[in-house]
Amino acid sequence: MAQYITAPRGTQDVLPVNSYKWQYIEEIARKTAEVFGHKEIRFPTFEHTELFCRGVGDTSDVVQKEMYTFEDKGNRSITLRPEGTASTVRAVLEHGLLGGALPLKAFYLTSCFRYEKPQAGRLREFHQFGMECFGSENPIADAEMISSADYFFKQLGISNLRVEINSIGCPVCRKNYHEALKSYFESKKDMLCGTCNDRLNKNPMRILDCKCPECQKIAKDAPHVLDFLCDECSTHFEKVKEYLNVMGIDYKVNPTIVRGLDYYTKTVFEFVSENIGAQGTVCGGGRYDGLVETLGGNKTAALGYAIGLERVLLLMDAVGAEIPDTQKCDLYVAAIGENAFKKAIELIKKGRDADLVCEMDLMGRGVKSQMKYANKIDAQYSLVIGDDEIENKKAKLKNMQSGGETEISIDENFVTELFDIMVGGSYDSILKSFEALSGMEE
Ligand code: ATP
Ligand code: MG
Repeated sequence: MAQYITAPRGTQDVLPVNSYKWQYIEEIARKTAEVFGHKEIRFPTFEHTELFCRGVGDTSDVVQKEMYTFEDKGNRSITLRPEGTASTVRAVLEHGLLGGALPLKAFYLTSCFRYEKPQAGRLREFHQFGMECFGSENPIADAEMISSADYFFKQLGISNLRVEINSIGCPVCRKNYHEALKSYFESKKDMLCGTCNDRLNKNPMRILDCKCPECQKIAKDAPHVLDFLCDECSTHFEKVKEYLNVMGIDYKVNPTIVRGLDYYTKTVFEFVSENIGAQGTVCGGGRYDGLVETLGGNKTAALGYAIGLERVLLLMDAVGAEIPDTQKCDLYVAAIGENAFKKAIELIKKGRDADLVCEMDLMGRGVKSQMKYANKIDAQYSLVIGDDEIENKKAKLKNMQSGGETEISIDENFVTELFDIMVGGSYDSILKSFEALSGMEE
């Protein structure tokens, strides 16, 4: 047997029969961004490695263990983007966008690459919908961010998510907290993994986010950052909660969330599902007031989140959320003989010009096989034309679901009559009611 080359471990193909699911989720993501006033940003698939080392943080799991880094032919160290925030900040600074209107609100839909152990909901190439906002320190911006993720999930028909929030403070409160963590972990040093031993002095908060079961067990009883917040961070967090209450968003304060990336400050949040196993976090985000400065810009408040789209799909399947398949064929025209074939070419052109999805035989098949194919692709209507139909300028339009047939002209009235039958009303009367409606608007 021939040996096929398979896709690399941890990657996934989206096949034509399933692509409507992705398109639907992307459409809802775009709609979410639009109603919250965020515009799309696109950035390159690879960046200078230094961007992520500085932006994501040297002590994060992503940088320490998960990056796809290589040297290109010009001896530059290049990394496939493991996330979108650092690239967004890089582009925003490079193009001087912070000199324009603030807040600056952007979103992205993009693939990310992380060398992880593949399992359900964890891939090496995965996709994120991310939202970012620059320029606002105000807690309303935090609440809006959370509210936009909430909107996205509700639009998709997913409602049973837990919204967990926390504040991890600013560098001022973090200093005391780090001391407290250090003295807590110091006595348990021998039980921590090698990476965490290294983190103990550099960034002890990272230990709280370690995936090793041993470290997680120890981290459970570690001091909570909420007990170390300075007045400013504490007031900020209270306001975020107040605004979330006004928005009617149910949330839970979870003092153990610290997030996996180094750049977060103040508010952090996650949307978590119980329905998809261990990889239950579908959205992670928060404030990163120090990142712009870290990457060479002026100090600028900023925040954002990223939603893992593979996990969203798993979740939608798990809860049975409906995904409309809009890729169905509206009309299949089958033809018997060369004259009819040419007529079919004409008719499907007319149909397509009227925005209908139309198909005909491309295989040189007999009429029976043509109809079999129409069935397989789930065509809504079909039309069989031969010499008689051409002569009479009439054919029978078949509703493939009910089996019912209606006579239809295959001359200049074809599209009008087709719409009448499909929409179940008169095409002319629908046109008239549209005209009437637009008249009313003026
Ligand atoms: P986790 O704790 O699951 O590793 P993370 O903290 O590394 O997540 P973020 O960097 O915050 O994740 O990314 C935001 C979202 O992207 C996650 O909540 C998740 O939905 C998704 N995500 C992250 N890594 C992967 C991956 N390897 N495969 C699929 N989705 C992922
Ligand atoms: Mg991770």
